[in-house]
Amino acid sequence: MCLFCKIVNKEIPSNIILENDEFIAFHDINPKAPVHILAIPKLHIDSFNEIKPELMAKMSSFIQEIANEVKIDKTGYRVITNVGDNGGQEVQHLHFHILGGAKLKWGHFSDADPQGHF
Ligand code: 5GP
Ligand code: ZN
Repeated sequence: MCLFCKIVNKEIPSNIILENDEFIAFHDINPKAPVHILAIPKLHIDSFNEIKPELMAKMSSFIQEIANEVKIDKTGYRVITNVGDNGGQEVQHLHFHILGGAKLKWGHFSDADPQGHF
């Protein structure tokens, strides 16, 4: 069973913010911003590339609920999902990073020439 499935099953403890039948949100163990929450479907889905539109619609509402709950809806936030190797995905269970609580920087994403063809 994958790491986040164990968090869903409460085999591994986490700091839960919101939970319903289909989703769970908890604080990232290694926060990259004052607010750094992970929102995941309880169903094991490898990555964003596999999620169905119906579940994604509900996932969007859940992410909005979290933003309201932790009061970053007005100040703003960023939602990120890393997909696969090039995307930098380390845990192979779909998760959305919700980052906020401060003005975020826009990162340096790659050493490759951004104009380069691939
Ligand atoms: P990824 O690189 O796959 O997009 O992000 C994985 C995230 O999961 C990282 O930000 C990492 O800090 C977080 N993470 C890894 N293991 C755990 C854990 O056991 N508990 C919690 N709460 N977060 C974790
Ligand atoms: Zn899983």
